[in-house]
Amino acid sequence: MSPNTFTGNRALVIEEPLIFEQGEPQRSGVDLPQAPEIADRLGGLERQGAIGLPGLAEPECVRHYTRLSQKNFGIDTGFYPLGSCTMKHNPRLNEKAARLPGFAGVHPLQPASTVQGALEAISLLGRWLMDLTGMPAIAMSPAAGAHGELCGLMAIRAAHEDRGDARQIVLVPESAHGTNPATATLCGYQVVSIPANEKGRVDLAALKAKLDNKVAALMLTNPNTCGLFESEILEIAAAVKAAGAYFYCDGANFNAIVGRVKVADLGIDAMHINLHKTFSTPHGGGGPGAGPVVLSERLKAYAPVPFVRAGENGLELVEHCLGDGEKSFGRMKGFHGQFGVMIRSLAYILSMGGNGLWQASSDAVLNANYLLARLSAELTPSFPEGPCMHEALFDDRFLKDTGVTTLDFAKAMIDEGFHPMTMYFPLVVHGALLMEPTETESKQTLDQYVETLLSLARKAKAGGAADDFKAAPRMTPRRRLDETRAARSPVLRWKP
Ligand SMILES: *Cc1c(COP(=O)(O)O)cnc(C)c1O
Repeated sequence: MSPNTFTGNRALVIEEPLIFEQGEPQRSGVDLPQAPEIADRLGGLERQGAIGLPGLAEPECVRHYTRLSQKNFGIDTGFYPLGSCTMKHNPRLNEKAARLPGFAGVHPLQPASTVQGALEAISLLGRWLMDLTGMPAIAMSPAAGAHGELCGLMAIRAAHEDRGDARQIVLVPESAHGTNPATATLCGYQVVSIPANEKGRVDLAALKAKLDNKVAALMLTNPNTCGLFESEILEIAAAVKAAGAYFYCDGANFNAIVGRVKVADLGIDAMHINLHKTFSTPHGGGGPGAGPVVLSERLKAYAPVPFVRAGENGLELVEHCLGDGEKSFGRMKGFHGQFGVMIRSLAYILSMGGNGLWQASSDAVLNANYLLARLSAELTPSFPEGPCMHEALFDDRFLKDTGVTTLDFAKAMIDEGFHPMTMYFPLVVHGALLMEPTETESKQTLDQYVETLLSLARKAKAGGAADDFKAAPRMTPRRRLDETRAARSPVLRWKP
């Protein structure tokens, strides 16, 4: 239902046509002199028709992009409780550091002697990450969590192949993030799924039954996507190792344990760290992020290039495999990776300090448990026994027989000014509602969120409210979209 205004605008929220539908081709933001007559050197290949660029004056163009930017909802706008995403505040100090001319203005092809400070920054961040995980090696170049997974699995594959032991299977728990099976498949492995037990953890017996000499690796998320610490992780690591396989840990949920657990003590061989989650750099909309991967002694030799090391004339960037005996699996990213993201993370880490990082993970877990405890009054927690880690998981049993679904509930939250939590993930519970407040949020914000959710839950349970929920959201510029069609047949190209 569009609003009843002449323009279609809602107060000062303006209907925004595509840039191609605005202006006209002849209009321009700049005045260029007539091009001089020059001899055609394109041999008849020059464009005949109009170039088809939109024509707008500068203020129209500025307004278009400014208005588009205001349609974005982000952590700077409000509480963003998406589970599994660690949407935390990015302190502006990080931005200031990343904008320092010595960092922002360097070119990746500059000689190493002119960028010693930048190399030192990469190497210092790497040392912090190795220290926080207790791991002996790190690959800094992967550009995201999923890219880090690929890096880890490529190192694992290289290690197996080096021993002449080409294994085919990667084990992935049911509750895993979709990138885990996708990465294993991309890497040429067959994915075998491991069920969860009734406590939301990996079923150890089922895992052991599937571990044999065809298994290359286990990919396990810890804390897992149910927000729970894998309490049998030491037994899991031992079983994986005994089968001659490697233990890959998805470290996207590192925010729950930074400064409290050294993952090296858990028997892990490789783990990616999402700098854009745990270490506060911005994310969303597809990047840029960074996913450095820490590696164990067993995998160290296979790490990708480039890496920074101390040479005779200061720090140097090793760009190529070194030849004899060198086992690096190669390169997976242009230049060094997302340097600007690394600077933001380093600024965050240095400004927090070791104690500050410890405090942040403690507060993140406290906040999640606050949500779990208070919301359990009306919502149904999936694993009520015991505390959770950094995120709280509920399922849709509290909506049973109300005619309201998890989706309807989430849409109603939008009208109340809350971005919905992660829905229908993880798949191990029905109609999941997964929320992760992070340490960023104050008790005041959490209380307002809790009161809102409790009142929506009470309204649903009181009965007769299903139609009302199905009509939400009412106050957004667009209401319910055909999400299936949007995903299956997206219109990616504007045609006049
Ligand atoms: C976010 C996330 C990933 C993927 O990380 P990207 O940086 O988005 O590629 C993988 N696993 C888990 C559990 C995650 O939450």
